[in-house]
Amino acid sequence: MKRSRSLIQKILMLEIVQALWVVFRHMFGKGVTFQYPHVKRALPDTHRGALALLRYDDGVERCVGCDLCEAACPSRCIKVVSEQIPGKPLVRYASEFYIDMTKCVFCGFCVEACPVNALGMTKLYEYSTENKRDLYFDKKKLYEIGEKYFADAKAYLVAHRQEQADETAKQYRYKFPFPVLTEKKE
Ligand code: SF4
Ligand code: SF4
Repeated sequence: MKRSRSLIQKILMLEIVQALWVVFRHMFGKGVTFQYPHVKRALPDTHRGALALLRYDDGVERCVGCDLCEAACPSRCIKVVSEQIPGKPLVRYASEFYIDMTKCVFCGFCVEACPVNALGMTKLYEYSTENKRDLYFDKKKLYEIGEKYFADAKAYLVAHRQEQADETAKQYRYKFPFPVLTEKKE
């Protein structure tokens, strides 16, 4: 019985007919291909696009130059040069900050490692170039991306439960600079 059914299928070329039917159905269905760049997909908040450096709401740089992101990066594409703020012992900032985007694997470890949420990932993905030196992002470029795509970076941090959604909340993981040295009261 099974053998005769298989023979009939072969004679009638049923599998080819079924395949043609699938093609025929899709000819009149709604297309699923996005006509990029005229049409772009809506990306989720968890999307890992270009990295950005962020500021607090009052404009102060969040980064304290602790180097934790550099230590966490598996691709070794981050370089941080930190310096002490004159007159403020133990309070540091990143005087230079570089990310080599040609090496970045978009793992997000640097964002997780940062104690002050100074780094965020944006939905920016259109930065291809013919000159790979343009992909060596310096501090200025990273802050420019941070300013332009702050909402994306904020949404990324919220989606990864690193920051609260409420814009008025100052619930960063840690708030620097804090008073490290306190005067002894007599
Ligand atoms: S996303 Fe990953 S690879 Fe890219 S800079 Fe951060 S830690 Fe390094
Ligand atoms: S971005 Fe964050 S982890 Fe990296 S040096 Fe600045 S404060 Fe430290």
